[in-house]
Amino acid sequence: MSKRPSELSNNQLSNLKSGLLESKEKIINAEIGKDKEAYSLNKDELADPVDEAAVNIQASQALRFRNREVMYLKKINKTLDKIDHEDFGCCNDCGCAIGFERLNARPTADMCITCKEESEMMEKSNQFHRKSKSLGKTIQEIGRR
Ligand SMILES: [Zn+2]
Repeated sequence: MSKRPSELSNNQLSNLKSGLLESKEKIINAEIGKDKEAYSLNKDELADPVDEAAVNIQASQALRFRNREVMYLKKINKTLDKIDHEDFGCCNDCGCAIGFERLNARPTADMCITCKEESEMMEKSNQFHRKSKSLGKTIQEIGRR
């Protein structure tokens, strides 16, 4: 048996893979369903302008939602690619095993929980620095007056 750095058993790995394939199929099937709906809406050429506006709003909301789905689909494909190349389950940051529990909850995770928390903390402190910087500037400006 080849030793994977992810420390996942073949069973765990195939479970995660089938879960990913399932979500992928769901997104693609939902896309096909939406296209059918769009087609039946287009057939109704007697729609009055108010309805048309409502349809446009719906379409733009659907598009925004679709963009998020497409992003997720890309992530799924990337993760499936990693599984095929036995490059799955390692943290992008520290190279440690991400762990089955985390992967089970979020199969597309590419950081271990420690690094993820660290990067979130960095993000927060960066926001804080930016805020305190602008606050410091304001205080200086007030002091000059
Ligand atoms: Zn890590």
